[in-house]
Amino acid sequence: MKLRLAAAALALSAPAAAAERPPPKLIVAISVDQFSADLFAQYRQHFTGGLRRLEEGVVFPSGYQSHNVTETCPGHSTILTGDRPARTGIIANEWFDQSLARPDKQVYCSEDPSVPGSSSEHYTVSTQFLKVPTLGDRMKAADPRSRSVAIAGKDRAAIMMGGYGPDQRWYWTGRSYTFGGKAAPAAAGAVVNAEVAAALARPMPAMPLPAVCEARSRPVPVGGGGKPVGDGRFARAAGDARGFRISPEFDAATVALATAVRGEMHLGEGPATDILAVGLSATDYVGHTYGTEGAEMCLQMLALDRLLGDFFRALDATGVDYVVMLTADHGGNDIPEREAEHGITGAARADPALSPGAMGKVLAARLHLRGPVLLGNGAVGDFYVDKAVPAPMRQRVLREAVAAYRAHPQVAAVYTHAELAAAPQPAGPPETWSLIQRAKASFDPQRSGDFVVQLKPRVTSLFDTSRGSVATHGSPWDYDRRVPILFWRKGMIPFEQPLSVETVDIMPTLAALIGLRVPAGEIDGHCLDLDAGPASTCR
Ligand SMILES: [Zn+2]
Repeated sequence: MKLRLAAAALALSAPAAAAERPPPKLIVAISVDQFSADLFAQYRQHFTGGLRRLEEGVVFPSGYQSHNVTETCPGHSTILTGDRPARTGIIANEWFDQSLARPDKQVYCSEDPSVPGSSSEHYTVSTQFLKVPTLGDRMKAADPRSRSVAIAGKDRAAIMMGGYGPDQRWYWTGRSYTFGGKAAPAAAGAVVNAEVAAALARPMPAMPLPAVCEARSRPVPVGGGGKPVGDGRFARAAGDARGFRISPEFDAATVALATAVRGEMHLGEGPATDILAVGLSATDYVGHTYGTEGAEMCLQMLALDRLLGDFFRALDATGVDYVVMLTADHGGNDIPEREAEHGITGAARADPALSPGAMGKVLAARLHLRGPVLLGNGAVGDFYVDKAVPAPMRQRVLREAVAAYRAHPQVAAVYTHAELAAAPQPAGPPETWSLIQRAKASFDPQRSGDFVVQLKPRVTSLFDTSRGSVATHGSPWDYDRRVPILFWRKGMIPFEQPLSVETVDIMPTLAALIGLRVPAGEIDGHCLDLDAGPASTCR
């Protein structure tokens, strides 16, 4: 009897004790570019390394990048800010600003167009378009002893996760990692860059094909001028930096740098909690170059799992109490040619007539106008009426363009700037949002286009595959919106919650774990309770 009472008392006090655990000393926030919920579901049975370990933590398999333009920059801007793109200001990878004096009116999300000579292609990396702070910025404001580091394959990932004031920021610039940040770079970066240069200089033989990938290894012809894909194994010639980037080697280099910088700065060993944001970009390059359902993605998934296993083991060896969060900036979708072979009807590439260039020509002829008439980036997303169109004609162009897009059989919806401005903010579970609510989550009154085009599901916006990219993302459909959100910390009681949550929930969740207050109403996200029992990690 006594024993049973003691057990009951223990059961009552255990959840409270779990919630009162001291904050972790290090937050490791990982984004795997294009790691869709679908890829996670497909491969999780095969994980034995780092992704297997994360499955033994708290698993949200249906996290949403809930907005419309599901691209890298907006996606990364949601992860550590708690805000959707409508608040972060990062509506796409690129948008147009026709008030710029320079000839190139397109702006890149992490450039600073005020730098002389800057263009959207040759730019100076900057946070100037990001409108809100990241978790690292908030941690440093609350306690200046906190250190914040962002290391990523892509500059836009490092910028959007690292925020305004990281101590160190690193990203790949073609053949090495480039430093940006406050603290002067010390030896670690130079050492890793030298190792990367040596690895690049060596040829890479084809990777061995495990049985699980063998079944997926079959060449599939690609429409739109591209080469067949499906049976690649990442062999590359010595010095082939592009091949290096589109392979598991790239993530391995990024993790090597993250490990080295953590060690050099002793992140997690100081008086306050530190944050290390890591952007792993290879999955996205593999997805774009080979699609998501071939041997290439299979090899990448298994390599990522092994790599993260090594990374976590190295972190374990430091004795630091760390928490890992892993998610993705957006999902992805396979090439329509293979989808057609795999039972999907209606998978297609977008009609090239939907590009702003082609549509602009049609409108120019019809309305006797000169110039491009329409500006935009491909067959989807934000479109702008060219400022050179005489003012009295602008409304007419807008009306005719919107009507032409709405009449196209591949188009799901078109919304004008005025319609989006008047639309209510999205609310409720993200899978229930209407298409205009998804577009509203990407709407910035100053930066968004004169109208926004959404294609029908399974229509991939990429029609020209002749330049090496065969598959893409960016749509408001769930294959592009759904990503896993995984949390792991030593001693955490695992659970899985299949209902939807959002990537904007990550920042307040991590903030609560370290007791950092985020004023109510300031952000879009909500704290996710990571305690499996009645106690809560949210406060
Ligand atoms: Zn991408």
